[in-house]
Formats: sequence, structure tokens, C-alpha cells
Amino acid sequence: MQELLERKKGLHRTILIVDDEFVEREMLGAMLNDLYEIKFAENGVLALDIIRQNKLTLSLIILDLHMPELDGYSLLKIIRADSELRRIPVIVLTAEKGAEVESLQLGAADFITKPYDVPDVIRARVSHSIELAENSIIIHETERDSLTGLFNKEFFFEYGKRLDNQNNMPMDAIVLDINRFHMVNELYGRAYGDLILKKIGNSIHDLVLRTGGLACRSGSNTFGIYIPHLENLTEELSEYIKKINEGIETQKISVRMGIYSDDGTPMDMEHRFDCARLTCRKLRNSYETCYDFYNAELHSKELHEERLINDMDKALAEKQFKVFYQPKYSIKGEKPVITSAEALVRWFHPEFGMVSPGAFISLFENNGLIQKLDRYVWNEAAAQIRLWKDKYDKYIPVSVNVSRVDVFNPKLCEILTDIAKDNGLSTEKLLLEITESAYTDNSQQIIDTIKNLRDNGFKIEMDDFGCGYSSLNMLTSLPIDALKLDMKFIRNICSNQKDYRLVEIMIEIARLLEVPVIAEGVETKEQLDLLKKACCDIIQGYYFSKPLPADEFEKLLEA
Ligand code: C2E
Ligand code: CA
Repeated sequence: MQELLERKKGLHRTILIVDDEFVEREMLGAMLNDLYEIKFAENGVLALDIIRQNKLTLSLIILDLHMPELDGYSLLKIIRADSELRRIPVIVLTAEKGAEVESLQLGAADFITKPYDVPDVIRARVSHSIELAENSIIIHETERDSLTGLFNKEFFFEYGKRLDNQNNMPMDAIVLDINRFHMVNELYGRAYGDLILKKIGNSIHDLVLRTGGLACRSGSNTFGIYIPHLENLTEELSEYIKKINEGIETQKISVRMGIYSDDGTPMDMEHRFDCARLTCRKLRNSYETCYDFYNAELHSKELHEERLINDMDKALAEKQFKVFYQPKYSIKGEKPVITSAEALVRWFHPEFGMVSPGAFISLFENNGLIQKLDRYVWNEAAAQIRLWKDKYDKYIPVSVNVSRVDVFNPKLCEILTDIAKDNGLSTEKLLLEITESAYTDNSQQIIDTIKNLRDNGFKIEMDDFGCGYSSLNMLTSLPIDALKLDMKFIRNICSNQKDYRLVEIMIEIARLLEVPVIAEGVETKEQLDLLKKACCDIIQGYYFSKPLPADEFEKLLEA
């Protein structure tokens, strides 16, 4: 702390000179402007504006008592009545003897008499008042947390901001939380809990003494630490962590720390602590003492995801989600023919452009939003089947993806049946792709749900087959109508004999189950030929076509 204070000396501080007389303002300014940054105001009203805008970044106000509009006395009263502004020292300018006492009583730090003393005297008084105010800020007892002796949160931020304004040192922000502190209180009583807080407070105090900086208790078991940037912060923290449990005889205390490490990006203190707090929050549920550094990239990904979540409802209402169709070709006959299509959703976001499902499906699965989106896609797909039937007098079955989250919805069958009915379709026109891993999640309940769907006429395709670790004996009892091989098995069938053999085995399993096999992700003629050789039934992949908007898909149909 001492070192820090030393460094602060001689750095630029800002002084506000308030005087209605131009010449006087300029004279004073000229005496001080080589040491300080100077702001001027020609009356009390303008001064108050500047004070309110700059608050504690002002190190001192030099105030003339006699001015039009708002005079110096009134301004002084306003400043003293404000709990924040009162920390700014004020020196009054006066020519009358009596005014000195009155202004000191009103809380002025000092006075300068007109006509002015020699410049050196004025500079000494100014510097003395600033120093007094800054030092008093550090020892003010009401600004401390009574239990740990660290600063309280409000003062911590106020002082930290002031520090940042006075010097431009890179600073690291750390938020420290005690893991499961409520348990310490519950198991050993509040008095013991207080003891732990004091101990942690002391160790933090040692840390800021060693590194320079300041610390506060910001919540019941949360601490803020603001220290000059350290290249070896990790070592410093490891040392610190080693000592946390020294002398603690009951269960071990563990803490978590979120760190914002200054990388030169201009950022204010509060924002740094937001980042540190966010990082700390992510370490929740850990049992060991641990720390992590704020990662801007990760954070912006999270912000982006948050945006997607927030924008979802509006996007549904505005039909920003579009369903694309990728054809599936039967390769059993002479020439490949389209047998059905898979509906794949895309999001045309007004700001981000086209967003592919990889960016939002699992995000929406994590918070349940997927159910709304899927229902929308199922509806669109059903309406499309209807439209094509009316246009070409032919049913083109469409498969829709059913998320593992949907499968837990007891009303799933009802919802899908209603969608088919609303579009004048029998249920077997809507094929349902359910990922293999959903079967292994909670087998019996899911198998029952899927059985129910089949009993109601829906056709079930097991998606991503080969990735979900179905046991072989379970496979025979699975209610399915087709197997879709996961595309990662197809990728290397031309170059890797073992992959090809694996695909052959999976196709044999399908034969055993008496269901057709769909290979997806087929991109080349060579892959197609090998799959044909292995007796695969249906092919989906870029070799034939990418997923297409409905109108482009129609061109394929017409061709
Ligand atoms: P999926 O069900 O395995 O769908 C196949 C994915 O492979 C699609 O990606 C498709 O565009 C892509 N693909 C097709 N042929 C090829 C190929 O030859 N090469 C390569 N490299 N890729 C090919 P997409 O459309 O990005 O969808 C990704 C995943 O998002 C889907 O994987 C599916 O799990 C999910 N998804 C898409 N739409 C929906 C939806 O409406 N609801 C739900 N729940 N999930 C969806
Ligand atoms: Ca699929």
C-alpha cells in the first residue's frame, strides 16, 4: 500500500477552479497548471455540473465565495451534504477575514486569501489539502468491514476508481468466494464462520500488502481484490492457497477465484470485476480450491448464445426459421430415385445472417426451448408434404428430427398426431428421426414412448446409428423402421478397410432387424459405389444434393 501511495505522488490530479472573475481564474490556473490538470467554472451552477460529472476524479476544488447565481457558500453546503462529493477537499478563496471561519465551519479544507500569496505558498497549500484528503480516505473507519477490517464494497470501488484515474497502472481484479460457506455456518456455528471470514480476510490483507493494491469484503462470503498486474499472479495465488488452511482444525476450507487479468484493453474497474465475478460464478460447485482467468472469447460466445436464446421467441413469431429439405435416394434400382427428404432447420437471423443448427440445437436442448422449435419445424414439414401432394399429386414423406428432449414429453404422440391431422396427413407420412443415444439414455421409458408413436402409425428412423452404444441384445427389441448410419463411419470407407467392414456389419444388423439402412454424409461416387456393394438401401448426402429450400427442392422433383 505504501509503495502504491508513493507512486501516486507526483502523478496528475485534476483541480477545479471556480471563480467568476476571468483574471483571477487564469492567474490561479497559471500557478498550478504545470502540476495539475485544471478545469474552470465561472459560477456555482456550472461548477456543480462539472463536480457531479467528475465526482471523485476531482482531487480538489478551489472555490470563490462571491459569485452570481450560486455563490460559494451555497455550493459548499451542497457538496458537504452529499455523502460522495464531501470527500473532495475544497479550498475557499476570500478577501474577508470573517469568511475564513465560516467556511472552515462549513467543511472547507483550507483557504487562500486575496490578493494571492506567492505561488509557492499556494502550491504548498493545494498539495497539502490533497494529500490530507487522500490519506484520510485510507484510514476512515466507517469505510471498513467491521469483521475483517477490509474496505467495504462501496468504498473499495470508489477508492479503486480514484486510483485508476490518478495513475494508469495495469490492474488485475479478483473475486474470491468461499465454497459452501453456509455449511461451515450450519455445522460449526456462526461464531466459527466469522472466525473463518476473519482468517480469509487476514490472508487477503497480507496478499495486498505484498502486491500493493486494495481489497474488500463485497458480500457475506465474497471478497474483491484489486492489485497491480502481476506476470506471476499464478505463483502468487498458489502461495496464497497453500496458506489458507494453516491453523484450521475443522474441515478444510476451499475457495474459488475468478480473475480478470489486465491485458491492456481499456476497461473500468467495475467492468473488470464483472468479468472476474462471471468467471468465479462458473467455478461454482467445485470442491477443491481453484481459480480461473476470464476468457474474452468464451465470454463473447456465451453472450452470443444468450442473444440467440433471447431472440428465439421473436424469431419464431417472425418466421426467421426456415426449413430446408435434403433428398434421400433409394439406390436399389437401376437409377437412384428420391424416396423422401429430411427436414433440417436454418435460422435467418436479421443480424447474424444464416445460422446453422449446429450453433443452436444443443443450446436449445439445454434449456428446453428445442420443444417449441421442433414443433414449429414439424408443422412446417407437414404443411410442405401437404403442399407437394396437392401440387404433384404425390406424397413425398419427410423425416423430421425429434430431439431427445421431446421424447420425455408425455404429450409427444398427441402433438405429432394433431400436426398430421391438421395438415390432412396420415401419420406414416411423417418420419421421425430419433438419435440412437436417446434410446440408451433411459431405455424403458423411451422405448415405451416410441412404441406408442409406432402404434399410432409414425415411422421411426434411428439416427446416428453406431454412436449411441445400444447393446446388441437391446437392438432386437427396439421399435424402429429404419437405421441411419452415422456419417463418421462413411467418411473413411474408401481409405480404411476396417471402416468399410464396420459399415458392412451395421448393414447386416439392419438385415437381421429387417429394416432398411440409410447412409448419410455420402459425398463421393466412390463412397456411393462401396455402399451399393454393401447392399445399403438409401443414400443421403452432398453427392446427390445439399439441404435445399423448398422451391429448389421442387426443381429436383420436377427433374
Ligand atoms: P443430423 O440429423 O445428423 O443431420 C445431418 C446433417 O448432416 C445436416 O447438418 C446435413 O446438412 C449434414 N449433411 C448432409 N449431407 C452431408 C454430407 O454429404 N456431408 C456433410 N459434411 N454433411 C452433410 P445440419 O443441417 O447442419 O444439421 C446438424 C444437426 O442439427 C442435425 O444432424 C440434427 O441433429 C440437428 N437438427 C437440424 N435440424 C433440426 C431440427 O429441426 N430439430 C432438431 N431437434 N434437430 C435438428
Ligand atoms: Ca437427422
